[in-house]
Amino acid sequence: MCRHVGYLGPPVPLDELLLTPEHSLLEQSWAPRDMRSGGTVNVDGFGVGWYRDSTPEPARYRTERPLWTDTSFTELAGGVRSSAVLAAVRSATVGMPVVETACAPFSGDRWLFSHNGRVDGWPDALAKPAAELDVVDLMTLDAPTDSAVLWALLRQRLRRGQDPVEAVARLMGEVLAESPGSRMNLLLTDGAALIATTWWHSLWVREAGESVTLSSEPFGPQQDWTEVPDRSLVVADTTGARVIPLSELDVS
Ligand code: GLN
Repeated sequence: MCRHVGYLGPPVPLDELLLTPEHSLLEQSWAPRDMRSGGTVNVDGFGVGWYRDSTPEPARYRTERPLWTDTSFTELAGGVRSSAVLAAVRSATVGMPVVETACAPFSGDRWLFSHNGRVDGWPDALAKPAAELDVVDLMTLDAPTDSAVLWALLRQRLRRGQDPVEAVARLMGEVLAESPGSRMNLLLTDGAALIATTWWHSLWVREAGESVTLSSEPFGPQQDWTEVPDRSLVVADTTGARVIPLSELDVS
């Protein structure tokens, strides 16, 4: 069911964030602890996006290979430090292709995005919201998956200047109105803030010193983490994390 991680804080080597801690994203790719439904492992590729000082647009590495088989990424990860990272390992939903371009993070302008879950009744359930997409957004869809359509919708709204928290909350509302059984853990960042939702799947938050981390499953020392309740919206930056029940935003 995919696992994702978002980090903001002092520059950290990618391997210390994603590969070496106890129950890191690497371990979660082959031995996740809280999948809740669907798959048992996350072997259908992975992706890592990270921000650099030189430019507001993030760099990104994606592949359809399982994380533990990619020795080139392991080498790269030791040499790259970043103060803002979004990474995900993928368990493809049945019927969706196992290709590099279906792996999160999706990106556009300064944004990175991940979706952990599935839209129940896809593709029909997304037909109504997707009708608003510009033809260019349809033509540049990353992959024929629910997550790629969610990203195209969000990207279009962000490009049009919609407030990112409002854009995420509204998208949740629209999709869940069409398809209430969907699983909708979203994660969005511009490198300065993390915006996340929980709708069915797990999410944990770690606030430590000048850093904040959101992760589907805790890694490293377990006592550092707090579980985010289901049906929440999280807005986090290096000053802390705010958890808001989605019911207060009138999206359910
Ligand atoms: N439905 C999405 C996909 O197939 C996300 C899958 C997941 O969270 N396991 O890519």
